[in-house]
Amino acid sequence: MAEKFANIIIDISHEKVDRTFQYKIPEYLEEQIFAGIRVWAPFGMGNHLRQGYVVEVTDQAEYDIEKMKAIEGIVPGSVTAESRLIQLAWWMRERYGSTMNQALKTVLPVKKTMKAVEKKTLVCLLEKEELEKELQEALRKHFKARARVLSLFSAEKRISYEKALKMGNITGAVLKPLLEKNILALESEIQYRNPVGSQREKAENICLNQEQQAAADAFAKDYKAGQRNTYLLYGITGSGKTEVYMEMMDLVLKTGKQVIVLIPEIALTFQTVIRFYNRFGQKIAIVNSRLSQGERFDQFERARKGEAQIMIGPRSALFTPFPQVGLIVIDEEQEGAYKSETAPRYDAREAALARARMEGASVVLGSATPSVESFEKAASGAYKLLRLRNRAKKESVLAKVWVADMREELKAGNKTVFSRQLQKLLEETLQKREQAILFLNRRGYSSFISCRSCGEAIKCPNCDVSLTSHKDGKMRCHYCGHEEPLPEKCPSCGSPYIAGFGTGTQKVEEITKKMFPAARVLRMDMDTTSGKKGHEEILSAFRSGEADILIGTQMIVKGHDFPNVTLVGALAADMSLHAPDFRAGERTFQLLTQAAGRAGRDSRPGYVVIQTYLPEHYAIQTAAVQDYEAFFAQERAYRRLLHYPPFCGVVAVAVAAADQQILESAASELAEEAKLQSEMWKNLREQRQGFEIEIMGPVQASVYKVNNLYRKILYIKNENYDILIKIRTKLEVCAEKAQWRQDVQLQWDVS
Ligand code: ADP
Ligand code: ZN
Ligand code: ZN
Repeated sequence: MAEKFANIIIDISHEKVDRTFQYKIPEYLEEQIFAGIRVWAPFGMGNHLRQGYVVEVTDQAEYDIEKMKAIEGIVPGSVTAESRLIQLAWWMRERYGSTMNQALKTVLPVKKTMKAVEKKTLVCLLEKEELEKELQEALRKHFKARARVLSLFSAEKRISYEKALKMGNITGAVLKPLLEKNILALESEIQYRNPVGSQREKAENICLNQEQQAAADAFAKDYKAGQRNTYLLYGITGSGKTEVYMEMMDLVLKTGKQVIVLIPEIALTFQTVIRFYNRFGQKIAIVNSRLSQGERFDQFERARKGEAQIMIGPRSALFTPFPQVGLIVIDEEQEGAYKSETAPRYDAREAALARARMEGASVVLGSATPSVESFEKAASGAYKLLRLRNRAKKESVLAKVWVADMREELKAGNKTVFSRQLQKLLEETLQKREQAILFLNRRGYSSFISCRSCGEAIKCPNCDVSLTSHKDGKMRCHYCGHEEPLPEKCPSCGSPYIAGFGTGTQKVEEITKKMFPAARVLRMDMDTTSGKKGHEEILSAFRSGEADILIGTQMIVKGHDFPNVTLVGALAADMSLHAPDFRAGERTFQLLTQAAGRAGRDSRPGYVVIQTYLPEHYAIQTAAVQDYEAFFAQERAYRRLLHYPPFCGVVAVAVAAADQQILESAASELAEEAKLQSEMWKNLREQRQGFEIEIMGPVQASVYKVNNLYRKILYIKNENYDILIKIRTKLEVCAEKAQWRQDVQLQWDVS
């Protein structure tokens, strides 16, 4: 039997991952050693025994076997939060085809120690009268302390913690109930700040309605019976899914386990966070991309130490080192943002299911427009389906939707970006002093510069895409960031008649201001929100009524709750339909349905106008009547016919090189290898039934040249994931041996 070796890291941290030590695995331990396990190993000159984590088991010796030391034994009770994360990394490596190193760097937090000393501040969260009232409740028996606290915070809202303790009558025991009841908050400058800062909203007491209760009860029944399942909470927009999550979370916390809540970054707003905060207070920790690495590490430390039992954040929050996760909630599970764009290109939904399996946790996926994959699983019974069919607030009704055929508009002589229906509704909305949202599916869309004489569009010198014009007189490439000033003459033919074409968010803003001079207009897109807080500020300004119309990209329709918005206009619904991706229809349907969900969330009726050149497309039609299941039926048939997920797995191999000839030979060599593999599988008996392994391409990527790299894509499709993964592994081996390896970049994408 071949000898096995274990790669071990002695200290568990992101930085130490590059420094592994290899040991022999004694035969009697072979069965018990796998990634994540903690072992004793002799270390250094003196051969002192130290604990290390196995990160990889291999049969490749990295150096002389004669000189290699052997593992001494397994540390008893060796499963820790880290072991589980290493195990998860191992799973990710296998599933997504990255190196173990990349996988480990993804799951292990970056250790960043803070230099500064901690500075704590007590912040009063209440106005004076309320403070007085609540203090009487909270400090009934501490008359002196009560008076002291009241006088302290009557003058100032913020007082140093150390200073307060020196005042007399104020002790830790006195402060404890005040902090628990959110009368005061303790802020600390290096320790992570209370995630909602020093703001407090009145917590409404929400009582679950029947549907919500039924969903929560179904989960509770299983959970209490020791069943761990995956649930799909499918509830229309505004049906109150968050309340249901919180009920489930409450139950799991009471059993002493922890909860991870994944929310797409874009929907992770103050407003969302405060709802969790109102219910769970200091138990929650939050991560988002705006945190520094140190702040992030602190949050993970709070989780590890048990100070926080709930972690809320985007996909990377999945790797919170909780000792025992009982529930993972994934809100808006259909979001593309759950898929990582860098190796390992993991899908957080799949990785969550893997983590849940390893730890015995349940998973709840929530959405108003579930991904086709998830709904298919729910329909087939692999996931348990929980449904919310009605809006939670009784008085709120679904919006009324019009589809405006822009071809007809043009025929009728309307050349503006607004259909007549949308113009009319905009006027009415402004008159009623209500708010409107107008959105485009992409920033800078088709605001490219073209020549009216020769028709050429000006392209980026590095990439094969059009440059877009910006108001500051520059043209930019949204792929590589290249910018240059607007030319005075066409670079191709020298004609002076060159102009911006089409509509971007900036253009819409200008036109809107011209057509509705009295309206106050705000714009939100990548260009206006590059600052640290930009997007939150624009949203809250709009929510508080500082503008009548909000114009932006799709980011403004995702998950935000604006009570005064009664009109939503999808200015060019087709943009996302034309994306070169088999999910284009799904994305369009989701976006339009979400947009419709933004209008009329309160008691007033909402109106939606979908502007399109393809009014007969099923994604547009089903979105217009907000009928997910009708959409699903059509989309499912299409996926089945064309062999796409969920009926078929797809591995996309992206090959990129600076030299087109090298790219050519690399791509075709990989395609050849894939064909060879598929022949081999075909000859195996088990493959006689079902689809054959399909190989498509290599084809040029939809944008062939980016950042001076040419790109081709090879697709391999089969209904059996395991076979696909095996073929991918073979291709990896083939690539490692190839002459071109150093000159070619490879990316594997599994879906
Ligand atoms: P979803 O996430 O399903 O779109 P939310 O959880 O955001 O819906 O809830 C929509 C609105 O309904 C929120 O303002 C929420 O406070 C309110 N809500 C939820 N459940 C109830 C309930 N049982 N009674 C009254 N209002 C509710
Ligand atoms: Zn020209
Ligand atoms: Zn470019």
